[in-house]
Amino acid sequence: MGDKKMDTLERQIILNLKSRFFDIIDTENGFFHYEKLLNEMLSAIQALSEADEVTLCVFNEWKQEFFAEASTNPDALDSRVFLGDLKRWAKTNRKFQSLGAEIMEEQIMIPLVKGNQLLGCMILIGASGSFHTYPKKVFQELSEECGQFLDKAQGMAKIASEEKRYKQLYRVTEKFHSSMDMDMVLGEIIFTLQEMYPTFTYYLLLSQDNNNHGDLPIRDLEYDSENIAAMQAYVTGAVQFEDSLQEVRSILYAPLKGKQGVYGVLQVIAPNNIIFPKTEIEFITLLANTAGSALENAQLYQQSKRLIADLQLINETSHRLNSNLRLTETMSFMADQILQSFDAEEAGFILVSSDGSDVNVIQGSTAFFQTRESESYIQYMKKKIFREKESLFIGDFSLQSEDETGCFKSIMAVPMTQSGVLKGFALVMHSSPYHFSFETFKLLQSLIHHSTLAFTNSMLREELEKMVVTDHLTKLYSRSYLDDRIHKSMNEDHEGTFMLVDIDDFKMVNDTYGHQVGDEIIIQVADLINSNIRGTDIGARWGGEELALYLPGVSLSAGALIAERLVKKVCQITDPKVTISCGVSHWNRGKKDSYAALFKRADRALYTAKNTGKNKMILESAADI
Ligand code: GH3
Ligand code: MG
Ligand code: MG
Repeated sequence: MGDKKMDTLERQIILNLKSRFFDIIDTENGFFHYEKLLNEMLSAIQALSEADEVTLCVFNEWKQEFFAEASTNPDALDSRVFLGDLKRWAKTNRKFQSLGAEIMEEQIMIPLVKGNQLLGCMILIGASGSFHTYPKKVFQELSEECGQFLDKAQGMAKIASEEKRYKQLYRVTEKFHSSMDMDMVLGEIIFTLQEMYPTFTYYLLLSQDNNNHGDLPIRDLEYDSENIAAMQAYVTGAVQFEDSLQEVRSILYAPLKGKQGVYGVLQVIAPNNIIFPKTEIEFITLLANTAGSALENAQLYQQSKRLIADLQLINETSHRLNSNLRLTETMSFMADQILQSFDAEEAGFILVSSDGSDVNVIQGSTAFFQTRESESYIQYMKKKIFREKESLFIGDFSLQSEDETGCFKSIMAVPMTQSGVLKGFALVMHSSPYHFSFETFKLLQSLIHHSTLAFTNSMLREELEKMVVTDHLTKLYSRSYLDDRIHKSMNEDHEGTFMLVDIDDFKMVNDTYGHQVGDEIIIQVADLINSNIRGTDIGARWGGEELALYLPGVSLSAGALIAERLVKKVCQITDPKVTISCGVSHWNRGKKDSYAALFKRADRALYTAKNTGKNKMILESAADI
């Protein structure tokens, strides 16, 4: 009878508890809070058992140990007073399904079991002997009910955290696909991990990475023995672990895997020598793979963008080089391109005589190459290029030069060869060490390779023009000879008159009579010029059907008469008849002047003559009227 009474009491207790548990879960209103749930459970147990203190220890998957997870006495969470007991107790009991509560004088440990798995245990502390009034069976029931409750709570906690996690993963994936920026992708990986596991340390070990990533925790993935596990992860594409017992930490390596390869390894360092649970590994792997694909996309995108830019650069440069610019213009164009595209500080082009004894900086190189300091660089590179016949790619020049004062550390030097003969080299420099990437270097080689022919042609043409003093067709002097003579005269004489002559409507002459006749007319005009000037005067072919005259020591008024006479004679004598227009300018020692200004004034006067009816000469002073 006594037993029966007990049974009813027992049932009553358990029913009460169940209804309490139900209430706890029910009042959650969809908002889930794991710790709160556990605390409510413990309060319920405390109320029921009249214990002074109830503490829940739960098996921790990360640490593979039991830890106090909730307690009615907050101090019990910190204290490890139960741990020793629990360890011993768990060791002997956790494998068995039917565990009885172990009743002691003032402390009871109730195992919380699910199936044959020990989830944790509850520790009740009360006054001495206070738990003896309860039948053992009540604790047995408590064990089962609380075990179920804990299992539910853990299940819900897991679902909630999975949900949070996959939301994170979704957010990350979305961000990855909205961006082609590699640093953003890498930063996002770190950020997400820090949110998920704030106590861990992270590094991204990247292979073949030359970029600067600001403060991102990025390291090079190197083929050294120190990091076997990282290399293993990189090579096999599978997650690897490493436990470092001395430093008390556990390290996980997850490969950043894309479709075409592995782009690096994510290193996750956990303190306290923990074990990574399976679900966490899965998540980190998933994140690493997503990152791998994103990196792959970003890399391919950046690669293709760079390739397009490279091709554009080469294309544009060759195009410009072949458009018959003057050498100086060509070279300054090249220098500009290089400064811009390679983010270089100096770009120079150096001609070297065939025996290597003579060097000559080509005009159009940046200003530094006109200075004395440039000489040591030029000499050093020249020697090396002559010896090795190879391009030079120097990351830190201060390491190989004795000259400490040099301010350029990153240097690229590419030989300019034409039909196997070394003509010179291009020198590209920057003051920071390791400034140029290898890709930049390869691009420079390709650029120089593509432009050397155009460049030597343009050089040859200019040399040829210089060498030829007389124009083949007209037997007048060449333009470069005229240039030299005017320069000389402006240094030596007191004054001089310059004339630009252009045949009027010459296109029509060509169209009407053909080029052959056109050429003959140019010769007729040239002959007229030659026969109307003195031996010290210089008649030159300026280009096409434009001719020029320079009369050293001749005043403007005298020059004007000569021009006047020329205009009249051309009109009278040529056959078929053509007329000319003429612009006249003059310099004298009293006024500051230059050849360029002298030419400009004559050109403007010629322009005025053309615009005011042609077949006339105009003086510089009248040009503005
Ligand atoms: P304008 O009066 O304004 O000078 O008219 P234009 O027709 O003479 O115009 P412009 O001076 O601009 O054109 C020069 C033309 O002369 C263009 C080109 O076909 C022709 N020409 C240039 N050099 C030579 C040459 O060496 N021989 C021949 N036959 N024609 C030339
Ligand atoms: Mg013309
Ligand atoms: Mg003309």
